[in-house]
Amino acid sequence: MSGTLNNATIRTGRSFDLGKMNLRQLWIAYLTYPTILLYFALVIASVAAATWFFAGWGPTLVSVLAVILVYPLAWYLLHRYVLHGRVLYKMKWTASLWKRIHFDHHQDPHLLDVLFGAPVTTLPTIAVITIPIGYLIGGWGAAATAFGTGVAITCIYEFFHCIQHLNYKPRSAWIQRMKARHVLHHFHDEDGNFGITSFVVDRVFGSYYLDAKARPRSPTVFNLGYDVKEAQRFPWVMDLTGSPPRDRPDGARPEAKLMRDTSQHAA
Ligand SMILES: [Zn+2]
Ligand SMILES: [Zn+2]
Ligand SMILES: [Zn+2]
Repeated sequence: MSGTLNNATIRTGRSFDLGKMNLRQLWIAYLTYPTILLYFALVIASVAAATWFFAGWGPTLVSVLAVILVYPLAWYLLHRYVLHGRVLYKMKWTASLWKRIHFDHHQDPHLLDVLFGAPVTTLPTIAVITIPIGYLIGGWGAAATAFGTGVAITCIYEFFHCIQHLNYKPRSAWIQRMKARHVLHHFHDEDGNFGITSFVVDRVFGSYYLDAKARPRSPTVFNLGYDVKEAQRFPWVMDLTGSPPRDRPDGARPEAKLMRDTSQHAA
């Protein structure tokens, strides 16, 4: 496999396929991806705004720390109760949103286009959570700092999330562990291990599990409960896909093997 992206073999349909890429190709795809470039631009703009309306070093640092602490909790609650909530597909007007922001990722976890959140949903969410926190800490300057911090953390989350679906074994043990937990969320039981880079919130809320032995395999791990029966009652997601929901992704599934060896090495 070549080190560049001029290679049709790393795509499935129009999307990059992380199951067929190496780390170098992932870096190139990530650093040239429009959504990520938009985030980088917004981080720079936030730094400019935070400088222009400078709140002082105290409030600036406090708002960075506050967002670092709040982010994993906010992500956890959204992932567990909204993305896995089994409500959005039941309403016509939210069905396409749910399909794009989580169902498609669980149907085929390797496709980069649907792994990255859509900026029209991520950015308002980040703004609604971070801007009030920053504003209360130190006015508009701190609000800009908080928003920029939220977007920067999102870039980091998206990168680690890519690595979790890249068909390779990370060198460092902590990334191996992180990857193994997220792979379990996708290939064993989706009702647990909701974190991306940290599973502290999962431990607090009792949804953390260490390996495949800890729980039985969930039959809804790829369809999130939107099975053929649900699709007959609530057809909008199926209509948009153009085919019934699948119980497993197409093609080879290197995760089955990966899950075995990462959980062995990580345990
Ligand atoms: Zn994932
Ligand atoms: Zn994968
Ligand atoms: Zn999920």
